[in-house]
Amino acid sequence: MSAENRAFSYALTPSSSPINRNLIAPTVGEPALRKATRCRFWYDSSIHLQMSFNPSNLLNITTDLIINTSRFEDSASIETRVKDAPEESRDALRGALSLLYLSEGPTNISGERLKVAEQHLDPAERVVARWLYTRTNGRLKKHYGPNALHAARAAQYRCESCKFADVRTLNLALVGGRKSSTGEFKCLCANCHAINSRVNDWDLPAAE
Ligand SMILES: [Zn+2]
Repeated sequence: MSAENRAFSYALTPSSSPINRNLIAPTVGEPALRKATRCRFWYDSSIHLQMSFNPSNLLNITTDLIINTSRFEDSASIETRVKDAPEESRDALRGALSLLYLSEGPTNISGERLKVAEQHLDPAERVVARWLYTRTNGRLKKHYGPNALHAARAAQYRCESCKFADVRTLNLALVGGRKSSTGEFKCLCANCHAINSRVNDWDLPAAE
């Protein structure tokens, strides 16, 4: 077993374990041990996240910033909302809602149309619409584009990993990380995105 693997084995033992750091350090080397301990920190953070995640609390706190899943693929309710809007806003609103909710909807919206439509969107929709606008028609278009929109819409604006639904936390992560990008995206909350990046960015030691 390599020094780094030994260090990882040590770092992943429960903190109550009697294994003594001072005995391990000379055999595996300080750099390997420090790296392994950093991994342990992220490992603990993800466990903590899973244990503290309580969807019912979340819904009470942030209902305004969660998108209801019943809105997806529902052209009839889009038309109802469009009819309720002033005539001069209808076209833009139809475009924005189709982009948000229909898998066959448009893949971008102009800034002017978004401005008109925004007045008739709810708070969660405004957050998502602006987030997607920047990535499909704004300054981040060349890094994201339609694939990013498709991923976010297919995930119904929830984290694909832990299902966290507060839209303010959403990120679009490259599948496979930066190094081996497929050009496909997944929709993750900020925590899962950070964990995902660490996993893809770290050069973990190969097994012997
Ligand atoms: Zn998540």
